[in-house]
Amino acid sequence: MKAQVVESVEMPDVIEVGGDGPLLVIHGGAGRRLHEMTPEQASETEAALARAVEAGYAQLAAGAPAEEAVIAAIHVMEDAPCFNCAHGAALTLDGTAALDSSLMLGDGSCGAACGLTTAKHPIDVARAVMERTPHVLFSQPTASQLEEWGIEQVDNSYFVTERRLAQLEEFRARAAAGHDDSATRHGTVGAVARDVNGHIAAGTSTGGITGQMPGRVGDSPVIGAGTYANQGSVAVSCTGTGEKFIQESSAYQIHARVALAGETPSEAAEAMLSAVDGRGGNGGVIVVPAKGAGVIGRTARTQMNYAWAQGDRRTTHV
Ligand code: ASP
Repeated sequence: MKAQVVESVEMPDVIEVGGDGPLLVIHGGAGRRLHEMTPEQASETEAALARAVEAGYAQLAAGAPAEEAVIAAIHVMEDAPCFNCAHGAALTLDGTAALDSSLMLGDGSCGAACGLTTAKHPIDVARAVMERTPHVLFSQPTASQLEEWGIEQVDNSYFVTERRLAQLEEFRARAAAGHDDSATRHGTVGAVARDVNGHIAAGTSTGGITGQMPGRVGDSPVIGAGTYANQGSVAVSCTGTGEKFIQESSAYQIHARVALAGETPSEAAEAMLSAVDGRGGNGGVIVVPAKGAGVIGRTARTQMNYAWAQGDRRTTHV
């Protein structure tokens, strides 16, 4: 792809949430939308975020490791049709769902998969790659590999919703009329957590971007781009125009800024998002450091769905 540089970059919007102790932050995607959500869609999304953060935080409250909270939260969002992942995923140009996922723990353990067409919960495939293979990234694992890893499989039509088909039709019509909507067609879910022992983990699950070319893979399953965790610094999950997040090694960049340059997680998130914006991209990021407050950030003029939980506190934002 050709490089693109935007002349003026507006300041990203970055907030800090929570403090020391077990902490879960999740996102349900960020982007500059073609249309605003209807009030019904907004409350559906908010309710699903609330269920997801509750399911994830229940794991932390029970003393489970950070990755269990990440996976539990992502499972809920993968089942909810309002997010761009699994059931309800954005569709490729040929009308099918091709799903990507990744998972990383603070100790460096990681797994990822791309081009999944039958795994009901793509995050489970990332986990299986991490736990059951000596490898990090699988492209289109076979049905028998998925079966051997204990992954529940469904027909691809399970992922395809009326809403996404309509979105694809609209994309085709606008593309035919010469509009470039590449900045508005994404979504994705992710979760970052710190458990009672202070261990951190990050996970991301996506359908990619509406109308993507068959075979296209974004940042979400790329360790270091869409997802990264390092016990010495932070756990990160990104969402947005994947190509730009890959160009910036976005998730790793936040780790490097914190661990090597001594920036705070907020400063690091702001710098990374400005760099993505400077490349003509947009999106958001969630960060949970090994110690201290979590961070939620998005590029300027970008809407982001998120939630976080700590102790008795729950916050959802749509
Ligand atoms: N980053 C994802 C991708 O490019 C899309 C998204 O975050 O919505 O595939």
